[in-house]
Amino acid sequence: MGSHMHGSDMQGRTHRLELADATLREWDAQVLDVSDEGIVLDRSAFYPGGGGQPPDHGVLLWGGVQTRIEGVRRGDDLRLIPAEGDPLPQVGTAVQGAIEDARRTALMRTHSGLHLLSGVVFREYGCLVTGGNMEPLEARMDFNLPEVPEGFKDRVAQACAEEVAQDRAIEVSNMPRDEAFAIPDIIRTATNLLPPDLEIVRIVDIVGLDTQADGGTHVASTRQIGGIEVVKVENKGKGFRRLRVRITDD
Ligand SMILES: [Zn+2]
Repeated sequence: MGSHMHGSDMQGRTHRLELADATLREWDAQVLDVSDEGIVLDRSAFYPGGGGQPPDHGVLLWGGVQTRIEGVRRGDDLRLIPAEGDPLPQVGTAVQGAIEDARRTALMRTHSGLHLLSGVVFREYGCLVTGGNMEPLEARMDFNLPEVPEGFKDRVAQACAEEVAQDRAIEVSNMPRDEAFAIPDIIRTATNLLPPDLEIVRIVDIVGLDTQADGGTHVASTRQIGGIEVVKVENKGKGFRRLRVRITDD
């Protein structure tokens, strides 16, 4: 799902490493600030949340102790939120950051699965995404679909399985705003308006299926998503259908 696009890989004083490399799980950094608002690093791979994808969890290791990180707050700076009672590093401390791999990898599979799902539903039924949310390996996505067509759930599930089996590449790139908005798919998915001052748009492309402006972390190809089980189709009112999906190890 789109939103929270960035013109650069900087958030305040922090270089966001995960935007260029979603596979990074450990890195070295220096503490720039520590306060009640959280810990600011010069370099961080913690995804701060956005576009429906929740923030990462992980740890900072320093001086033989660890600070567990349970959330991320994004303002002028990227602030890592420590677990209550954990020791805090001082400004200037060299730390090693580490992302909790199981949670992040599950969220990458789930996020990519939702892009695949929205691409399939648009191709098969021509309807747009109006909202969504995800937890590791579980998600919902809302569509503006006036009626639920005969066999909808099975057809969507079948098309998702085929797209996973195709093992399409999932590519991330940055491009100038004008160029991005010339892609028809971007106009259809950018329902959440991009900030007018944004000059560079981050694009996530499931090659041959779905192209979106997006700030999240993704797996490298559709087979890495795993299975996409369509759990339920709910009617939430006029033109408002909610699909619940589960990501499985196939
Ligand atoms: Zn997304």
